[in-house]
Amino acid sequence: MSKITILTEDVINKIAAGEVIERPASIVKELVENSLDAGATRILVEILNSGQDMIRVTDNGEGMSKEDAQLSLIRHATSKIQNDQDLFAITTLGFRGEALASIAAVSQLSIVTKTEDALEGFNLVAEGGTIISSGIVAAERGTSIEVRNLFFNTPARKKFLKSDAVELRHIIDVVTHYALLHKEVSFKLLHENHQLLYAPAVEDMQSNIASIYGSSIAKEMLKVEYKDDLAAITGYVAKPHRARNDKTQQVIFVNGRLVHNMDLSKAVYDAFHSLLFVNKHPIFILNLELDPAKVDVNVHPQKLEIKIEQIDQVAKAVCTAIRMILEKNNLIPTIENMSADQQLTFGAPLQKEVIPEEAAYSFEPSSQAILHVKESPAQESPFIFSEQELMSVIDSVVKDENAAPEDIAVTEEKVAVSERQLTREKPSSAKLPAMKILGQIHKTFFVAETLGGVLFIDQHAAHERVLYERFMKQYMNTNVAVQRLLQGEVLEFSPAESSIIQENKGALDKLGFTLEEFGRNTFILKTAPLLFGRLQPKELIYEVLSMIKEGKEKITETKEEIVTRMACRSAIMAGDTITISQIEKIIDELAETDFPYTCPHGRPTIIKTPAEELEKKFKRKG
Ligand code: ADP
Ligand code: MG
Repeated sequence: MSKITILTEDVINKIAAGEVIERPASIVKELVENSLDAGATRILVEILNSGQDMIRVTDNGEGMSKEDAQLSLIRHATSKIQNDQDLFAITTLGFRGEALASIAAVSQLSIVTKTEDALEGFNLVAEGGTIISSGIVAAERGTSIEVRNLFFNTPARKKFLKSDAVELRHIIDVVTHYALLHKEVSFKLLHENHQLLYAPAVEDMQSNIASIYGSSIAKEMLKVEYKDDLAAITGYVAKPHRARNDKTQQVIFVNGRLVHNMDLSKAVYDAFHSLLFVNKHPIFILNLELDPAKVDVNVHPQKLEIKIEQIDQVAKAVCTAIRMILEKNNLIPTIENMSADQQLTFGAPLQKEVIPEEAAYSFEPSSQAILHVKESPAQESPFIFSEQELMSVIDSVVKDENAAPEDIAVTEEKVAVSERQLTREKPSSAKLPAMKILGQIHKTFFVAETLGGVLFIDQHAAHERVLYERFMKQYMNTNVAVQRLLQGEVLEFSPAESSIIQENKGALDKLGFTLEEFGRNTFILKTAPLLFGRLQPKELIYEVLSMIKEGKEKITETKEEIVTRMACRSAIMAGDTITISQIEKIIDELAETDFPYTCPHGRPTIIKTPAEELEKKFKRKG
């Protein structure tokens, strides 16, 4: 007997459905693409229970005849291409003719549709891919497709769905992306009858961006317009200082199709080169018009990946297009709201004396060598310098002595304070060894003498540990100290962010952020956690939201990470000059923490160079 059997149509459909329909958002994507292909100017997306109970997409497009509606559920039935030649000149979003068949295979699907000419509409209901009823109904021109009980017959897939919040976010992203590209189409997204997004049809792209991302971002977008033999590129990029902590506001369309393409994204980053801070991501919405014959969209059933002929040149065009626009505009970032920043009180009232516009890691290459740590686990202290490194230590000390006053971390007036402090031996605390603080070097480390050696303390790591523990204690006792923002700060969010806020309101409150709804996608920030007051509250809340968005489920599960990040962002940085008394305060606070020896990320806060090592190096001892 032969061991090979040909799979039944039902099984084939389920297998294919697995490729096309990964999650509720895939359905929304396919249905919206069909509506766009049908020439709709109005698209309504309605969702219940993050898409798991119901997804309905209603459009005013060309509709289907009764025959077409019946055919539409059959695999590889499409009105968009007819032969293999057409495959090389695809101008529609769909062409594989498998979306509806796949969706129908794993759900209960119903279609109501009517063409312009038809007198009545046609209605059809299918379950697991089989049509179970059909008939005539009253309907407007257009199509409404409703999907219920998703994955009812593929329980394994259902189990893989993420939390409701994550699935909902994916749906919001899909609708947001298509709404961004199609300003001429009115998009509305309702979840449980609550409007999450409404982007009416408008004339210009900027108004469209405003209705989706909010007007404060829209105002700071630069228009991209570029054309060469290969590509026509249009769209918008936000000025570099609007860059975000995540990549959620980046969209690239090729011939109207949303694509994920590393080469093209990289081209955008290349254009922003050196204008972005580390770990910041630009906001952009780009549409590339390329010769369809040079684009292969038939790479994957979800059609998100594409192959582009001459990708290198196309990427270069993208880079040039953006570079040109950035150069043309005045892009020096203005420090927003300086006064607001200054109003804020800092848990430990440190005065920030230098506001570095860039990360101020100002080591010269020669002195940087002293940071290199030798990995030598066999030895007692891993922090032993090579001879060459030691020479550069001496070099840099000498250099510092000769340096101009502003180059010396502890400046004149502070020396007066420091002299007094220097003579004071710190009482030994339980956690930290007794030490005599000598000062700050390279605006990055504190140096202190201790029994049998010298301590180097990383000012950022130490302060981070202090903030982290103090905040965690407040948080655990549910009494996070907050600063009240006098007038409150009005903040605009994207629809996805708004839904995160709604979803996590209680948890945000607990973290010290009070947000009050103030119109669609707009909130007033009333309070922010006091301990992290060194940062602008606005910056903090965006930071927190992007952390939740990075795929983490709920705030409660990521609070450690959030607190760590907030502590990191608001701790004094390498490059900040501080006074001896401030150093003392931080050391005192560090001594009171539970784990003073590492920052919350696990990096060391303190290292010790034993005097013995020095003696060895100086050949005083054998
Ligand atoms: P594809 O989009 O690849 O052709 P689908 O399975 O998504 O395959 O749709 C099958 C066919 O059903 C389409 O080719 C189109 O003719 C028809 N169709 C689907 N959705 C709509 C709609 N919203 N309006 C009009 N026709 C539609
Ligand atoms: Mg389709």
